[in-house]
Amino acid sequence: MRLLGISMIELYAHLLLSLLVLVPVLAAVIVAMITAVNLLLRRTKRRAAERQAHSIKFRPDGEPYPPASRGMCDSCEQAYEKVYNMPSGKRLCPDCYVSEEMRQTRAEVGASPYQSGDPERGEKEST
Ligand SMILES: [Zn+2]
Repeated sequence: MRLLGISMIELYAHLLLSLLVLVPVLAAVIVAMITAVNLLLRRTKRRAAERQAHSIKFRPDGEPYPPASRGMCDSCEQAYEKVYNMPSGKRLCPDCYVSEEMRQTRAEVGASPYQSGDPERGEKEST
């Protein structure tokens, strides 16, 4: 049987050959897409981990936290997995450290260390 001047066997041979070419090409494209998605996911995860590691060591304003260890907080007198050993010798839990830093910075320049704070107040006291 002939169709448009080519035999059925020729048609099947053509189909088979195009499938033999198409299937590996499609497989390669799919593998490349999966690899790209994996790479993007891994990069996103790594960046999140790096950001988290950085946030443990550095305050939001970029200054490093003081050295920390397990112990008692001198301010609220409770035991913590992590207390900061202040240069003054005082040991503070993360919560007391933040409130202490805020109080100190407010007293010095009239702004919180983590926020821009009240601009009016900061300007008045810094001049
Ligand atoms: Zn405390």
